[in-house]
Amino acid sequence: MLAGEPVRASSPQGRFTDGARLLDDLVLTDIDAHGKHLFYRFADDVLLHVHLGLFGRFMTHRSAAPEPRGAIRLRMVGHDGTVDLRGPTACEIIDADQESRLLGRLGPDPLRADADPEQAWSRISRSRREIGALLMDQSVIAGVGNVYRAEALHVMGIHPAREARSLGREEFDALWDTVGRMLTDGERAGRIITVTAEDAGMPRSRIPRGERTYVYRQAQCRSCGGPVTSWELAGRRAWACTGCQR
Ligand SMILES: [Zn+2]
Repeated sequence: MLAGEPVRASSPQGRFTDGARLLDDLVLTDIDAHGKHLFYRFADDVLLHVHLGLFGRFMTHRSAAPEPRGAIRLRMVGHDGTVDLRGPTACEIIDADQESRLLGRLGPDPLRADADPEQAWSRISRSRREIGALLMDQSVIAGVGNVYRAEALHVMGIHPAREARSLGREEFDALWDTVGRMLTDGERAGRIITVTAEDAGMPRSRIPRGERTYVYRQAQCRSCGGPVTSWELAGRRAWACTGCQR
């Protein structure tokens, strides 16, 4: 929608006016992501960094853009539509040094072709912290959020409170693959559905909201029907089945 032609950028809300002015009339050449960090690359090496956080979201309009309403931090108008960004944690123009510092703080992103699982393994295999805490630490693996933490560990039969370094190499490799598969599914579907069609007994696209996860926000495990417990772990609620995850 935006690529290949000059983008008209503005900040209807007014909180990103200077940044939008820098982007305005530049050609968008590429977009990529590392974990939860999004990079919009414009001509003249101008780089827009976006992190949605818990509340940020994009809205796209394929037809003529409506009058801006509410807190639109950034509006980008291309030849084929309009993209509005609301409520991000980060929306900023950064330079190459800031980009490399930011990337230096992030662990490998399983969705990226250049991801090196050894980096994650070297942290996990030496840590006494809970595996559920490490999975949420973006410097260990980039891109895993609270739903994927709960669901990937459940599928692996690993309790989130297990000491990270107690994982064997084969367990870690399988966990890495599981996380990568779940993230890939989520990227394709544009939403998080971790329950397989086989387990749900229906195509994944038809699984009702509220039944799309095995343990996350569930009272009963969707694998075995047993009770699910939840507690705070690394600042967010963790979920585990008392039967499947010893
Ligand atoms: Zn279970």
